[in-house]
Amino acid sequence: MPSYANARKDVGKINLFRVGGIRISIDFSWFVIFVLILWSLSVGYFPREFPAQNAYSYWGAGIVATLLFFLSVIFHELAHSLIAIRSGLQIPEITLFIFGGISKLSEDAKDAAAAPHGAAKRRGSVEDTSPTL
Ligand SMILES: [Zn+2]
Repeated sequence: MPSYANARKDVGKINLFRVGGIRISIDFSWFVIFVLILWSLSVGYFPREFPAQNAYSYWGAGIVATLLFFLSVIFHELAHSLIAIRSGLQIPEITLFIFGGISKLSEDAKDAAAAPHGAAKRRGSVEDTSPTL
């Protein structure tokens, strides 16, 4: 039976799928950056670079490009997780949020090399908030 604390951790998140035992989820704050990127591509970038197309093309290309961008963020986090798992750590979850992705560690980072971008050792989770835009 899930405890109250565990149930509370899932508030504000949507679980998407699992990859190799790692749960991939999105925080509600992610929708803000999703809309901003989608809008800037569909209203700014694509009309400027590919003029004289219809709005459906711009928004369709914007949705595809935005989803591919966030897929690349998930791959980035999975790469961190692979290194961490090879170092003997467990990664139960990757969460996308407004500033990027977070790979959660289930225990202390024993090896600083396993922490994303040389992040300081920390109990509970390692945040990978490096801007990827
Ligand atoms: Zn990273």
